[in-house]
Amino acid sequence: SPLAPAAYLEKLNPEQRLAVEHGVGAANGPLLVIAGAGSGKTNTLAHRVAHLIVNGADPRRILLMTFSRRAAAEMTRRVERICRQVMGEKAEAMTGALNWAGTFHGIGARLIRDYADQIGLDPAFTIHDREDSADLMNLVRHELGFSRTETRFPTKGTCLAIYSRCVNAQQPIEEVLARVFPWCTSWAKELKQLFGLYVEAKQKQNVLDYDDLLLYWAQMAGDGAIAADLGNRFDHVLVDEYQDTNRLQSSILLALKPDGAGLTVVGDDAQSIYSFRAATVRNILDFPAHFAPAARIVTLDRNYRSTLPILTAANAVIEKASERFTKNLWTDRDSGGKPALVSVRDEADQARYVVDRILENRETGALLKQQAVLFRTSSHSGQLEVELTRRTIPFVKFGGLKFLDAAHVKDLLAVLRFAENPRDRVAGFRILQLLPGVGPSSAQRILDVMAAAPNPIATLADLPAPPRSGDEWPAFVSLMATLKADRADWPASLGLARRWYEPHLERIHEDALTRQADLLQLEQIASGYQSREKFLTELTLDPPDATSDQAGVPTLDEDYLILSTIHSAKGQEWKSVYVLNVVDGAIPSDLGTGSPDEIEEERRLLYVAMTRAKDDLHLIVPQKFFVHGQHSKGDKHVYANRTRFIPRELGDHFEWTSWPPPARAGETAVAASQPVRLDIGARLRDMWS
Ligand code: ATP
Ligand code: MG
Repeated sequence: SPLAPAAYLEKLNPEQRLAVEHGVGAANGPLLVIAGAGSGKTNTLAHRVAHLIVNGADPRRILLMTFSRRAAAEMTRRVERICRQVMGEKAEAMTGALNWAGTFHGIGARLIRDYADQIGLDPAFTIHDREDSADLMNLVRHELGFSRTETRFPTKGTCLAIYSRCVNAQQPIEEVLARVFPWCTSWAKELKQLFGLYVEAKQKQNVLDYDDLLLYWAQMAGDGAIAADLGNRFDHVLVDEYQDTNRLQSSILLALKPDGAGLTVVGDDAQSIYSFRAATVRNILDFPAHFAPAARIVTLDRNYRSTLPILTAANAVIEKASERFTKNLWTDRDSGGKPALVSVRDEADQARYVVDRILENRETGALLKQQAVLFRTSSHSGQLEVELTRRTIPFVKFGGLKFLDAAHVKDLLAVLRFAENPRDRVAGFRILQLLPGVGPSSAQRILDVMAAAPNPIATLADLPAPPRSGDEWPAFVSLMATLKADRADWPASLGLARRWYEPHLERIHEDALTRQADLLQLEQIASGYQSREKFLTELTLDPPDATSDQAGVPTLDEDYLILSTIHSAKGQEWKSVYVLNVVDGAIPSDLGTGSPDEIEEERRLLYVAMTRAKDDLHLIVPQKFFVHGQHSKGDKHVYANRTRFIPRELGDHFEWTSWPPPARAGETAVAASQPVRLDIGARLRDMWS
């Protein structure tokens, strides 16, 4: 019998409620929620999951996928809060059992390990991140003699990008080359050969790359006994940010739920920003037709996030898109000023402007955490980071260079990975060369011997010590043996590996002390994981974000500012948002103007950035900004124009200002004693008039 309407339902608007209450049985038809930014899609999804649980769905049989682990954790917390209203203390145990919440890649890794025995994989497989994958691609490329210098064969990075595109878009190589990598079309034959060997190498070494996590999953879900088992495993499959999934991901969903029963997807076509990673907005647009007539489509048109002036400006920007998005968002938050469009001289002034506003806000009671600075590319926040550090404002940066990308952190992780899976050549190649007297060719030889042996680690002990390796060799052999045997003793074994690595660190790097601190931090992180395998998997899939070491790493309960690329900011919201470098060349990026489609994606990116703001929004337009090397042949400053996505006719939606503000009347006396040679303030004001 249906329960009495719970209080949590009454807080929802009628459309949201329709989506939340859309059938709680596993046999219910597919549901699509397609709606604009801030309309409560994620909130609705959380309510739906809670509503399913409250109505008796088994949380262990709910598969919930979001675009980051952080988003999944946040969703789980929200679900628990809602369940608590109805179930009280029982809610914690129920949502604790919601253990299939995560990213596509993370869930894939777990399922593949579960079925590893049945698909011919050793369950101790390790996972390569993009850099490792490129390194392996490079090894294979050299084996084939496709070296770049002589033949101008594509770089390892390009090879990997082509491979990855073929896999994720589920398209033949010829098509991918023609559409995305036209300058490589003449290499189709060689690339195919390379990819064949690359796949073989991964299998031999018992490693999976990111794409494999989806590919193996799709294969398992496709047919046979495992498919049936997988299909029966989940009553409900729910996906947030569906507009940013690719063909391979949609094929997984369709394999799990062929008739769409129990399937819920949520997204916004106007926010699709990952096509450079083969995501396709067709997934969400074609959903209704694919499941016609069973699919229910819910649209939401009330925005709960932003003030009217911010929403109006964001709507105006996206309305200029060549594709029509049919959403018309409204809000009753009819307060606050227009978004500021702030002209500044350069990036140093941009940084000062932003920091001043942030501190002003803090004076009036807004926490740093309620404010965020967004940018197109990680390098754009350089000047700001300097200014924040100078003024001792703690910050955390998302989406930039990861802590794990640092060479010394990778070294230490490679030690663990090699112990976990001694057939992983990229890991082995990396650490063997830390030993004195071991270069690339002797490392290869050692790895070859290990590869041929049934028990590779044991074989190490039988090998003659490489010349000039001294005591280091037996120390390494015994470390490996201990780590192999010590699988259960975690995270103590990481400490063991660190103490082994530290002397090497001191030999290689001058700034060994700061690097040692990183390694200790890694140990700190490790203590949160139950096993080495979990630690390695999750760190590789969703590494912790880099923090500001100069300002001191903020602890969790401390107040800190968020710095984030726009891509990593999706789904989130802040009271105040500052967008840096709203100029042509940054948004759109000079790399993103190659085709009309790319330009449209950059426009959506600006829309995503603007719609993160609740109460105030600042778009900053430096007259001069710094462009990094490769695209403009050397680092240099360029004079920039306001982004093309805010043409003059949209001007009324913004408050146009310049900074520093023009000197006031009382201050002219001071200025007079030090004559201004170049009245830039006046120039800048003129540019806007
Ligand atoms: P995005 O497209 O950016 O991912 P979204 O559509 O997922 O946005 P949410 O993040 O779920 O939107 O919600 C935006 C804000 O609106 C949140 O602060 C949320 O708490 C609030 N909100 C959503 N629905 C309601 C509601 N019915 N009543 C009050 N507030 C709501
Ligand atoms: Mg959302």
